[in-house]
Amino acid sequence: MKRRRVIYEGKAKILYEGTEPGTVIQYFKDDATAGNGAKKDTIEGKGVLNNRISEYLMTQLQGIGVPTHFVRRLNMREQLIKEVEIIPLEVVVRNVAAGSMSKRLGIEEGTALPRSIIEYYYKNDGLQDPWVSEEHITAFGWASPQDLDDIVNLTIRVNDFLSGLFLGAGIKLVDFKLEFGRLWENDYMRIVLADEISPDNCRLWDVTTNEKLDKDRFRRDMGGVVEAYSEVAKRLGIMPESVQGENKGPVLVQ
Ligand code: UDP
Repeated sequence: MKRRRVIYEGKAKILYEGTEPGTVIQYFKDDATAGNGAKKDTIEGKGVLNNRISEYLMTQLQGIGVPTHFVRRLNMREQLIKEVEIIPLEVVVRNVAAGSMSKRLGIEEGTALPRSIIEYYYKNDGLQDPWVSEEHITAFGWASPQDLDDIVNLTIRVNDFLSGLFLGAGIKLVDFKLEFGRLWENDYMRIVLADEISPDNCRLWDVTTNEKLDKDRFRRDMGGVVEAYSEVAKRLGIMPESVQGENKGPVLVQ
């Protein structure tokens, strides 16, 4: 069998050369890391769940006109994506205080924020992804003012849509991280949503009990990581057993 060329290997994913020009294969590993690689483990089944959850969320977003890099899922662990030039930013949206915001600003975890807040981090492992402002981003040319304008508009749309989608599944979207890329089509460039959207990069709490259904279970040694990710998939109606079962996905909360 011909060995595929690895383009990049990250903490939770591997990128392989795609099957068609301008495409890449995104492979979801079971590896989990936290604290910029300080804590490491393998969580059996995580990659399969993230592949499926991210496929579902990206497809739903495409359905409302949000451009993404997603093309199609290939198998349990792989999806075909469009090759983009990744913008070196982690765009974090927060609806409820948690994690680093709670620590840094002394706001109790679980406090609803007066409005959704967007933060930027410069993607650089060596510097541990430092917090940066729009000023840094445009001054250092990581993104142009026009790019940033597109990024903010897309981020707000994604947050509004996903908050509603998760609420319909009994889940509070506390915060999440997005990445964007530049997609070149001939001489024309547009900003598209890239990377993945999964419980690895979202904080997802049960709407009534506030039970954590995300990577904080790993970061905070709470156990039940795969069970929590499976619960998210089940509530979104994308687990194989829910195809015949009663769970048909998000419903409108009255
Ligand atoms: N996040 C991420 N990758 C990172 C840092 C954060 O996906 O490298 C996500 C994280 O899962 C959470 C949100 O971004 O949903 C905000 O994370 P926070 O700044 O609170 O950092 P943490 O507490 O995870 O260190």
